[in-house]
Amino acid sequence: MQEKGTISINTENIFPIIKKFLYSDNEIFLRELVSNAVDAVQKLKRLSSLGHFSGEIGEPLVTVSFDAEKKTITISDNGLGMTAEEIKKYINQIAFSGATEFLDKFKDAQDAKELIGKFGLGFYSAFMVADTVEINTLSYQDGAEAARWTCDGSTQFEISAGDRATRGTDIILHVNQDSEEFLVNSKLYDILKKYCMFLPIPIKFGTKTEYVPDGVDEKGEEKTKEIEVDDIINNTHPIWTKSPSELKDDDYLAFYSELYPMTEPPLFWIHLNVDYPFNLTGVLYFPKVKNELELTRNKIKLFSRQVFITDEVKDIVPEFLMLLHGVIDSPDIPLNVSRSFLQADSNVKKINSYISRKVADKLGDLFKSDRKSYEEKWNEIGLFVKYGMISEEKFYDKAKDFALLVNTKKENYTLSEYHDKVEPLQTDKDSRIVYLYATDTNKQDSYIQNASKKGYDVLLMNSPIDSHFISSMERKLEKTSLKRVDSDVIDKLIAKNDAIESVLSKEQSDDIKSLFEKAISNTNMKVEVESLHPEDFPVFVTMDEFMRRMKEMAANGGGMGFYGAFPDNYKVAVNGNHKLISKILNAGSETEKTQLAKQAFDLAMLSQGMLTGAELTDFVNRSVNMLN
Ligand code: ADP
Ligand code: MG
Repeated sequence: MQEKGTISINTENIFPIIKKFLYSDNEIFLRELVSNAVDAVQKLKRLSSLGHFSGEIGEPLVTVSFDAEKKTITISDNGLGMTAEEIKKYINQIAFSGATEFLDKFKDAQDAKELIGKFGLGFYSAFMVADTVEINTLSYQDGAEAARWTCDGSTQFEISAGDRATRGTDIILHVNQDSEEFLVNSKLYDILKKYCMFLPIPIKFGTKTEYVPDGVDEKGEEKTKEIEVDDIINNTHPIWTKSPSELKDDDYLAFYSELYPMTEPPLFWIHLNVDYPFNLTGVLYFPKVKNELELTRNKIKLFSRQVFITDEVKDIVPEFLMLLHGVIDSPDIPLNVSRSFLQADSNVKKINSYISRKVADKLGDLFKSDRKSYEEKWNEIGLFVKYGMISEEKFYDKAKDFALLVNTKKENYTLSEYHDKVEPLQTDKDSRIVYLYATDTNKQDSYIQNASKKGYDVLLMNSPIDSHFISSMERKLEKTSLKRVDSDVIDKLIAKNDAIESVLSKEQSDDIKSLFEKAISNTNMKVEVESLHPEDFPVFVTMDEFMRRMKEMAANGGGMGFYGAFPDNYKVAVNGNHKLISKILNAGSETEKTQLAKQAFDLAMLSQGMLTGAELTDFVNRSVNMLN
């Protein structure tokens, strides 16, 4: 048997185009050929279980090998094989019709990964790295004859009798000059590890040395001997293919370190398993989040029937869960389409909301079943939860029951618990509940203490996401405002009807105001005389909540450039009812008055950690003089 033919295609030679176009992604030839080999083995198993094949299946195996001298890479399987007729049908016609289509479309494509597979280019990806490709195969069918197909990258192919003696297929790549980098053990090994690590059929790549018992020596001690065994590189039954009931915590932890060697164990995990309305399995892990958020991102691996596809899962996993680790496997995700198409795909949308719902349910369960350990993990989980609550309505609705607020005493409350806790004391005269918060317990200590004196509680909001979380809580919670504890004097932050009378007359108050204005050189500080409790501090320096938020947003690139351009605007609240203020009014000379005002102001600045440099030195000198 000897036959030559021309693949029916309009273009003389498509391979140079394929090669050039796909160059950057050319390592995927191995993924395509190995997964074809795996398919061939699985098809044979299916034929056998359906009773269409009664011979021995043997140990299913795919072998990858290379010969650096002959410059070949061979992918062999003991699957169902092909007859010459089948080669013509499956390789020449079907695959080539894909290639023609590919040629029509390739001008518009974004990247190579979009195209391979989609147009059935799987097998032909071999020509990205090979000048000539050979198929040497023997079909499982009774009386089948071995067949060989050769193609040198032109549209000419050749089919002749093959020499494979056992059922299965060898794909032999004669590697081209530009691709000799692939004829290196470590290179092939790395590619196999990346794409084929969890394929369902054992993949053998080379051999390794093992030590096995070999009787006893003359002293009666056990001996071992070295043997060479097949090096199977993949785990054919990764845990996501198993049912959660078969698995123990240790299995999940072991799988985690298989995926991410040298990484700290995860906090907990979620086993995903759904078969309607789409197919999806997987395990998502909550990692211990370190400060290096970017290093933690993009670690979820996407598989399709155990073949690794990508670790870019942006559109499939909700943005706020991109910090999670683990695997997702779904044959229903269109793998080879462009980003925008993926976003619009209805399965992808459903998968996205399914994952988000599962995560919410898991967190809710953890919270309910073991609140103490949940609270211990909150530091790490909080970031995901808050991010999710900000970015997804539906997630907020679930998470509001297990999101925690932590106060400066490190006590934890759910949103409703906290509401109930502070409502009695922290409701202002307009019936708004005011949540006070601090971002830095050291710097804002005097303000926190002032609030505590009144019996108020102060939340700690010191994570990078908190400023956004605060705004989103304000939008959701009814009649509730959040105010940083140093954004005004406490009696104004939570204004009550029982206003304190001022001991100063209008003139005295004006005098004090201009005294302080003179004493303060900074023009961005606005002095206001207020009638506060005599026991409060004589002077406070505060920054308005709204102004500060706008500036923070501008600083974070929130498009509020207008506010960002403003200088910091502080308020200097002078407590007209404090003894010190009366003392200043009654001081002997103008100089003495100014000195005292300066001193009182500097003390306020000092308690805010805002007194630095020359001003601090001045303050120290002035204090020493006063003490003398
Ligand atoms: P796909 O895998 O999407 O069908 P490919 O281009 O990768 O497309 O392969 C084309 C066809 O060639 C396969 O569907 C299969 O029928 C046949 N084929 C490829 N490799 C093998 C193999 N190792 N054993 C048996 N048949 C194969
Ligand atoms: Mg294929």
